[in-house]
Amino acid sequence: MNGQLHIREAVLALPSRPVRADLLCEGHRIVAIGRELEAAADAVVYSARGLTLGPGFIDAHVHGGGGHSFFTDDPASVTAYAVWAPRHGVTAFLVSTLGSQPEETEAVLRGLRPAIGGSGAEPLGFHLEGPFINPACRGAFHRRMLRSPARDEYWRYHEAAGGLIRQVTFAPELPGALDLSAAIVVSGALAAIGHTDATAVEARRGFDAGARHVTHLFNAMRIPHHREGGATVAALLEPNVSCELICDGAHVAPDVLRMAFRLLGPNRTVVVTDNLHLAGTDAVEGRLDGEEVQVSGAKAVRSDGTIVGSLATMDEHFRNAMDFLAIDAGAAFRLCATNPARVVGALDRKGSLERGKDADLVLLDGERQVVATVCRGVLMWNSDPGRLS
Ligand SMILES: [Zn+2]
Repeated sequence: MNGQLHIREAVLALPSRPVRADLLCEGHRIVAIGRELEAAADAVVYSARGLTLGPGFIDAHVHGGGGHSFFTDDPASVTAYAVWAPRHGVTAFLVSTLGSQPEETEAVLRGLRPAIGGSGAEPLGFHLEGPFINPACRGAFHRRMLRSPARDEYWRYHEAAGGLIRQVTFAPELPGALDLSAAIVVSGALAAIGHTDATAVEARRGFDAGARHVTHLFNAMRIPHHREGGATVAALLEPNVSCELICDGAHVAPDVLRMAFRLLGPNRTVVVTDNLHLAGTDAVEGRLDGEEVQVSGAKAVRSDGTIVGSLATMDEHFRNAMDFLAIDAGAAFRLCATNPARVVGALDRKGSLERGKDADLVLLDGERQVVATVCRGVLMWNSDPGRLS
């Protein structure tokens, strides 16, 4: 769609307050927001009366969904996910992946690279979750996948990814981790602490070495104790550090999420799904890295009970964020779109409803279900074709 898309009479979920207005897209951008806008005669008109319009969700931590996995070197998997994800309101994401050996990780990054920037929900780059993480907090990852921090190895990944790594999760307490952190920052990626047994002191060393983000706070981290708060408490108290929260209600209890949100506030909280390929499918079991996993409510678990990923889709996370954190839609869009855009380095063109930004939009009904999703000006999901003219 290269012409205009005119969305009429939506309720815009702006951070300050909801406002009834039209929104006009031309090409891939938002060109105007206001009341009773004039559009070209051949504009596609979408009647959004009674719907809430917000910036499309950005999932900064996701391994797949709809049956499509990012643990592969086949870019068709990412492309297929990008077409599927808009039904859950997702308009952009980071490809979170890792191989089981360094050569495989390089092959995965090199293989998936052509998918970055493709159509549909936009793949913005890579999140390397490991391999420089603590075996004691490995979560879903196999021991054989994990490595001691090594700057040279990281630069090889950077090279294989064509400079498109946007986030790297590492454990700051491992030998060589602080050098690695500095290299991550120099490469232009976000250094993120996660899968870590760090004490609060060790976590602060990581922050001093440039880490500015924490991967799924609480999960795969040392359990906070009142005499040793670990990386969790250190992160909550660090004003310049953002934290991912998995809001599926299974990974972290809703009241613990609410407590974390009180400390993090609306600018440091980033809602992520950590979805596996099984998310959004009817599967009751599946395979992850050769091992059988069972679906149990909103999560997938290994036979030993370890949670290996969330299955609640991004729109469910949005609704949960509103309910668990007791916030309105405008605030929830901040957590599910604006803050993720900032942490992945795309806030200049995504993450909010503003003139000049990418036309990445989601329309929700009164039940907060996704009715339509627009990715860079293209209507990618529309559950109610009667609204188009
Ligand atoms: Zn993950």
